[in-house]
Amino acid sequence: MKDLSFENKLYQSSYPREDVYNALQMPVYNNAAFEFNTAEEMEAAFAGQSGEHTYSRISNPTVQYFENRIKNITGALSVTALNSGMAAICNTFITLGYSGANIVTSRHLFGNTYSLLNTTLKAFGVEARFCDLNDPEAVKANIDKNTCAVFLEIITNPQLEVVNLDVLAAIAKEKEIPLVADTTIIPFCVFNAGKAGIDIEIVSSTKYISGGATSIGGMIVDYGTYDWSKSTKLASNASEAGKLAFTHKMKKEIHRNLGAYMTPQAAHQQTIGLETLSLRFNRAAETCLALAQALQKVEGIESINYPGLENNRFYEISQRQFGKYPGAMLTFDLQSKEACFSFLNKLKFIKRATNLFDNKSLAIHPESTIYVNFNKEEKEKMHISPKTIRLSVGLENSDDILQDIVASLK
Ligand SMILES: *Cc1c(COP(=O)(O)O)cnc(C)c1O
Repeated sequence: MKDLSFENKLYQSSYPREDVYNALQMPVYNNAAFEFNTAEEMEAAFAGQSGEHTYSRISNPTVQYFENRIKNITGALSVTALNSGMAAICNTFITLGYSGANIVTSRHLFGNTYSLLNTTLKAFGVEARFCDLNDPEAVKANIDKNTCAVFLEIITNPQLEVVNLDVLAAIAKEKEIPLVADTTIIPFCVFNAGKAGIDIEIVSSTKYISGGATSIGGMIVDYGTYDWSKSTKLASNASEAGKLAFTHKMKKEIHRNLGAYMTPQAAHQQTIGLETLSLRFNRAAETCLALAQALQKVEGIESINYPGLENNRFYEISQRQFGKYPGAMLTFDLQSKEACFSFLNKLKFIKRATNLFDNKSLAIHPESTIYVNFNKEEKEKMHISPKTIRLSVGLENSDDILQDIVASLK
């Protein structure tokens, strides 16, 4: 299997058992529980010795098949599929965190992640320490013996800030802290988190993987690269599970207790989505770069933000880390919030909707929607401007998208 290209690997994963009908899709096992022939077999399954499924909140063959496909293409040691990107983030932080622990991160975060850290986890005594992750001294100064993770989004949404991963991974390694990253913005086909020094990768599979916004999902990808014997909380798991101490703790306790496993139906849809990931991403990202270039010359647009543009402040680091196409999302600023609303209201086929990486292009005004529940001061600290439009580029014809944008600016 090692010699296959990424595109080929997307399709290769054998079924754990022979199907009586030789079905070419993994069947959707839409059941809650699994029956056992004997009490002994049941005991072995519940003790995790036989690997048999017991109950679909804990594991399910259809979901496991999806997890194995991701394992196959990423080279990770373990993958856990959850029923949303937020569930993946929540399971990760709760596995790592404890009252008195802190997470070193940036204020440039997806709105719900920021709120989870700054409100929900705060109530349980986990502190979020916000700093500029591109400032090595600030990161080092915030790390102490109770730091349970350094957390980042590899390209922040919607600021499109790119963190230098070599520098950040070196700090995390030197300080012996796990590096945890939300990589939702850049899919597996162009970015391997394990090779970039990320220990635990989190993905909202609702976005690129689901194959056109078919379902909500998330995953936790464990590369087995962190030495958990160095962790205050997980050292005892390390003596039992070694490199997989994090996943062990999560699977044996946190994920069962929180109850947010991916559903078999979503896993089925996302497995199909995964098969066209490369194709869809390349098409949308090419269009995104072409649009970003074309929009620079369009009247009414004050500025355009896409790390794939040569004049972008993150261009070089972005090329090095993600190649020519740093995602299929861009933002641009108009003169005012009113100008943004007028623009959105005139759009002909670009959808006024949240979400990213649907097959359809989507436009939104983040300040009045995703960030509506934050006050003015918080929005300023997070660099959420009322003048910004976010565009998630779909698979439509590139000229048509440009035309819809230009016409709606008038
Ligand atoms: C959408 C998104 C999430 C949350 O994912 P859900 O599947 O909606 O729960 C987290 N991080 C980023 C960067 C996202 O874009």
